[in-house]
Amino acid sequence: MSSQTVFVPFRYCPLCRLNHNKGKKHVYSKKHKEIVANILVKFSKKITEAKAFLKKPSIKEITWDQAGNKFWCYFCQGDIDKHKLNVSTPGQCVVEYGGFLEHITRSDHAENTAKFLKENMLDMKRTLEFVINEKMYLKFLEDVEAAVTRFFMLKSQVLTQIASHIRSQSVIRRDVVASSLREQVCRMVIS
Ligand SMILES: [Zn+2]
Ligand SMILES: [Zn+2]
Repeated sequence: MSSQTVFVPFRYCPLCRLNHNKGKKHVYSKKHKEIVANILVKFSKKITEAKAFLKKPSIKEITWDQAGNKFWCYFCQGDIDKHKLNVSTPGQCVVEYGGFLEHITRSDHAENTAKFLKENMLDMKRTLEFVINEKMYLKFLEDVEAAVTRFFMLKSQVLTQIASHIRSQSVIRRDVVASSLREQVCRMVIS
């Protein structure tokens, strides 16, 4: 047996989902580089989608079928709520992409993003592409508050309209019943 054999411990790469003994050089493997590039493209797309909501918040009903959706943050290696529950005096609703926007404002997300880029031998300055600053997020929260108020105002207007529609329908029904009763009485009197 050769005494030259150097023992390189196996490491698990969560991105490639495999054990390797290449040490830090693993990040230069073709497959790993492809996966990292793909992750960055996918996350950039999500950021673009989310930024549209940053300018124009979207409020959904609490019963919205996508309310509980999650997303996987590759930088933090965790499942995060995509949308955010909003509880206020008029009621509960869901802020579309609210969870995602909150997550990418967090300092630990920024730290993990920088770490991810460093580990993959990429420019750490790119961290800025995958985060938003607190000032932008606070402005978003203000806009959300106004959007939530509008959402419940519109909802109560719609409910008022429905209620008045139901009332007018029941008046029509009452009139119809009354006139058919009159007809029946008339027929009885005639016969
Ligand atoms: Zn890998
Ligand atoms: Zn994250």
